[in-house]
Amino acid sequence: MLRLLCVTAHPDDEAGAFGGVLARYSEAGVECSVICLTAGERAANRGGAANDEALKAMRCKEFDVACRHLGVSHCQVLDYPDGALDRADFHAVTGHLIQAIRTQRPHVVLTFGAEGFVTAHPDHGMAGLFTSAAFQWAARAGRCTAQVEQGLAPWHARKLYYVTTEFSLPERPTVSLPPVTARIDISAYIQRKNEAFACHTSQRVLQPVFENAQKRAGEHELFHLAATAQVTPMQMESDLFEGVTE
Ligand SMILES: [Zn+2]
Repeated sequence: MLRLLCVTAHPDDEAGAFGGVLARYSEAGVECSVICLTAGERAANRGGAANDEALKAMRCKEFDVACRHLGVSHCQVLDYPDGALDRADFHAVTGHLIQAIRTQRPHVVLTFGAEGFVTAHPDHGMAGLFTSAAFQWAARAGRCTAQVEQGLAPWHARKLYYVTTEFSLPERPTVSLPPVTARIDISAYIQRKNEAFACHTSQRVLQPVFENAQKRAGEHELFHLAATAQVTPMQMESDLFEGVTE
């Protein structure tokens, strides 16, 4: 069975940035997992929550529902501090992700680039940096050796992709986006993506903004191939699993 792991920063990223491919590949029989590094407790939109803890609980539930709606098999919130991933312990976060990669053994890993995607959110960029290191280090027996001693074998995931776009948002900080190397047709899954975003009821006010951005993005989700287990010439892809075998 083919497996995909997506690493995000906030509940709603899985729907907003990756919803189309998660729905598409889940439906195609790929086992999809999502790890979200924060519970999104510092969000500007509070959903009526009395405090950060209450919002955290609310958003974790919304994340579960959205992931289920997208067909994701495993989803997890790691509860690192929202809005402060640049101050999280690099060794701790990458260790967590390395353990997840060695346990779940994904063939394809998806995350953000260091720019933070179209919103330029530093947490998105940090999720990408942590995941990029973990993707490499999970394959090396000499990294996080305690895991290996406990019987967790190194795992060399085949491909690492950063989500990207072909437009920028003038109201957001400047970003330098990774060039598009994969265009994935999500035309059959746009409705499901919108519905998954709507599962984040605490973020309801963002729904029209999200749906407008989705219209502008069109019928594809775009990715940049950032690393491969086997050296291959760069070519435009229409399938994230192109060339990947079990
Ligand atoms: Zn986010």
